[in-house]
Amino acid sequence: MDKKNIVVTGGTGFIGSSTAWLLAQSGYTPFVLDNFSTSVKPEKSLFNLIEVDLSQPDEVTKAFKKLPQIHAIFHFAAKALVPESTEKTWDYFHNNFNATLNLAEAATQFSVPYFIHSSTCAVYGIPQRIPISENSPLKPETPYGESKRASENILQQFSKWKGLSALNLRYFNPAGAITGSKCGELHDPETHLIPNIITSIHQNKPFKIFGNDYSTSDGTCIRDFIHIKDLAQAHLVALSFLETQPQGTFDCINVGKNQGVSVKEAIKTAEKVLGVQCKVEVHPRRHGDPAELIADTTQMKQKLRWQPQLPLEAMIEDHWNFIKGRIS
Ligand code: UDP
Repeated sequence: MDKKNIVVTGGTGFIGSSTAWLLAQSGYTPFVLDNFSTSVKPEKSLFNLIEVDLSQPDEVTKAFKKLPQIHAIFHFAAKALVPESTEKTWDYFHNNFNATLNLAEAATQFSVPYFIHSSTCAVYGIPQRIPISENSPLKPETPYGESKRASENILQQFSKWKGLSALNLRYFNPAGAITGSKCGELHDPETHLIPNIITSIHQNKPFKIFGNDYSTSDGTCIRDFIHIKDLAQAHLVALSFLETQPQGTFDCINVGKNQGVSVKEAIKTAEKVLGVQCKVEVHPRRHGDPAELIADTTQMKQKLRWQPQLPLEAMIEDHWNFIKGRIS
């Protein structure tokens, strides 16, 4: 088997494209499966691009029939806007649940031994304890979080009954861009903190702080940010880990930095990095936002023998450079 062929679903989105780029840089051959529903189909691509609706089993089977032997599936494709998921609940389950189910079946049919799934700290809901360890209760607050928990469960079943080796990487808050990759964070609408701070600074418009009355040190929410370069790297490390484990291994691992940053601290850091003041407005809390999300990264360090390196300053600077590159 050629160990280098990797299916990357959602490989034109933020995390998927950055990881596909890093895979290619590291000597792998990514095959990107995407329906371009939340991204633009590139005119030219560095990778093999296959347009497929992953929620349709026949389309997935047809796509895999055309592929060479695949070593691993990296599954990023998902609807992932938390507020939208409360309105478009059916879409979130139809898309996220069925895609994972169809891909797990394809892994079985086409003898793909390894599966790495983009999961999320949203599976924990509002945590009882900080930092959040992997064995904390799973109580998603939104259809998005539930659809990811359901996807984790599918993989657990395919691991148990079909011998698939599967790892759920529960991401905390990715940000930044990989220099030289031309990949970065562009959502429409953009709901995420770092891109919104940078857009506000760049457009000289007030940044909306959603809630300053949380029970945190400065009243704003706290998150655990990880640079996208580190997060992409985590997938390569995770594959190497799975390769050393018995076939049929199943696990869930938090990927974060175990460092809390408040919304106000993120604004201050952006002001320092960009050398410009950010106007702010305080708005009511956003529905479903937990006050504090910080990863317990003990499992990540012990099992993957790896930890992220890059600071918040680099996430801000690299996102800004990515945006500047698109503007100029
Ligand atoms: N946030 C904010 N203004 C924004 C975007 C986000 O105040 O324009 C806050 C949001 O309420 C949350 C934190 O920043 O407390 C992180 O939000 P994000 O959407 O980036 O990540 P998630 O909520 O998924 O952890």
